[in-house]
Parts: sequence; C-alpha cells; structure tokens
Amino acid sequence: MKIDLHSHTFCSDGILSPQDLVERAVAQKINVLAITDHDTVAGLAIAAEHIASQQLPLQLIDGVEISTSWYEFEIHIVGLQINPNDPELLARLESQQQRRLERATEMARRLTKFQVPDCLPAVLELANGAALTRTHFARHLVNIGKASSMNNVFKKYLARGKAGYVPNNWVDLATAVQWIHDAGGVAVLAHPLKYNLNGKWLTKLMREFALAGGDAAEVASPQQTPVQKREIWRLCQLFELKASVGSDFHQPTQWNELGRGLYMTDDIIPIWQNWQLHTVAGTEIGSDPKINTTEAAAESLPLPQ
Ligand code: AMP
Ligand code: MN
Ligand code: MN
Ligand code: MN
Repeated sequence: MKIDLHSHTFCSDGILSPQDLVERAVAQKINVLAITDHDTVAGLAIAAEHIASQQLPLQLIDGVEISTSWYEFEIHIVGLQINPNDPELLARLESQQQRRLERATEMARRLTKFQVPDCLPAVLELANGAALTRTHFARHLVNIGKASSMNNVFKKYLARGKAGYVPNNWVDLATAVQWIHDAGGVAVLAHPLKYNLNGKWLTKLMREFALAGGDAAEVASPQQTPVQKREIWRLCQLFELKASVGSDFHQPTQWNELGRGLYMTDDIIPIWQNWQLHTVAGTEIGSDPKINTTEAAAESLPLPQ
C-alpha cells in the first residue's frame, strides 16, 4: 500500500486540477492521498466527485495546509481528516485568504521599487481564483524575465528579507491546531526540515507544536535522508508525536513525484494508525505501519538538488 498525505492542486499553487491530481495518484499506484492546499479546501469536493464518478481505486483524505507565524518563521501545519464542510473552518480559512490578498497587494507595491511594474493584475490572472501564493508571483517574475528559475526568483525577490517579502501576519501555531481540531482533524507539522532551523530551534518548534496540541510531524518527505528521518522521528518520540508522510507535490519535476521517497522504517507510529483505510473493493486493510514496502526503500536515498 502506498500513502501520501501532502499534495497540492491548482486551487492553491499546484499545477494540476483536482481531477488530474487524483488520476495521477492512481497512475502512481497510490492507495491513499491527502489533498492539502494552502489555506483552502476548494479542491476536495471536486476530487471526491471525480473519484466517485470514475470509480477510481483511491481513498481521498480531506486536508488543508495552514500558514502560521512562529517567531519570524512561517510554519506550515497540515490538517488531515478535517470536515471540509465545517462552516467555522470555512470562515477561518477565508480570513487567511483575506490575509493572502492583503499581502499580495503589499508585495506588488514593494516590487514596483525594484523595476517590476505593477504586477498584481497579472498575478491575479495567473492564480485564476486560487489561493494567492508567492508561487504565483514567482511564476510571473520568471515569465517576465526577472529570474531564470523558480528557485532564483525566491532567492532574489521572495524569500524572507528580500525585496518582495512581506513579513507574515498569519495565525499562531496553537490557533491553527485548534482550527484543525475544531473541524474534527489531526494537526501535522509539515516538512520540519524546510524552515532552515538549527537543531536547537527545531527542537523548540517540535516542543511548542506538541504543547499546542499538535498530533504528528512529517517524518518522511522526499529529499530527506534516512538519517534525517530518524532524527525527526526521535524528536517525535520525545514530544509524543506520531509520524506522517507527504511528498508536498505541486507539479511533476525531476525531484518530486506523488508518493515517491516516503519510505519509513516499521518502528514508527503512523498518524493513520487508527484510521479506517480501505482498498478498492472496500476491504479494510487496517493500519500496518510497514506501509511503503521495499520498492520505495531505494527511493529514500537522497536525491540530487
Ligand atoms: P506562500 O504560502 O504564499 O508564502 O508561498 C509559499 C510557497 O512557495 C510554498 O508552499 C512553496 O510551494 C513555494 N516555495 C517556497 N520557496 C520556494 C523555492 N525556493 N522555490 C520554489 N518554490 C518555493
Ligand atoms: Mn506551495
Ligand atoms: Mn508547506
Ligand atoms: Mn505543501
């Protein structure tokens, strides 16, 4: 069984429609997929409808990825098994979308001082109604020739401290955890190694997330080495968190694919331990932690940058 609990559609900054994403998951032989768009649940019903109408052999987990502020860092909290129709959750996510729009307006204003003509209309057009993210700005800046790649555009304009960066004003960790719990879900610390924290700060983050009521952390992300996975799992054990897995897929690239590189050893306690997971035929397959088989083991090797 293959499971991937972190992925994006074009309802936020992914490239694929919800329908194409679930089709791709099936093609990649994934059995269980969470869609976790940035501060929105708009893709979930569309994906569920497509799975049902096409009778796809895929179990969809309703998810969301909430941006939070923690000291000067932007920390992402994934909510899994949330009720996507919860009116309170929808109102709360709407407030994050409002923050995104305000931030985008300010980003566009700051960028005009760096020879980027007023770009908000073009960015809004690119986003086409999706959650407005820095990725949309990055795509626009690459399109108009301001940088040669997405990575360079972040380095030059959009990363913390750069010209187009607007210090974040998201909700705090505990609020995001509360929102997820109120909507019936579990809260997962996303990609703990992507925040460039040193060991002391990473430990502090995991501790404070656990104290805020967090349930798990992503132990397996692509490009995390077996040693790094062990280190995160060690911190999980210290703070009584479970383990989750997620590719954070946005679009097919040489380095990222749905379900790839998510192998975990069988001593971890997975967040899906008590979930009812089903195969196509509806047979319960329970919660075997040895979920990602040896076929994935080769893929847990570090990938080239
Ligand atoms: P936002 O939530 O609007 O701050 O946008 C953050 C998103 O930007 C992340 O979810 C990533 O998808 C993307 N991102 C961040 N850093 C980079 C980078 N160096 N290269 C490409 N995409 C990035
Ligand atoms: Mn993203
Ligand atoms: Mn993220
Ligand atoms: Mn993500």
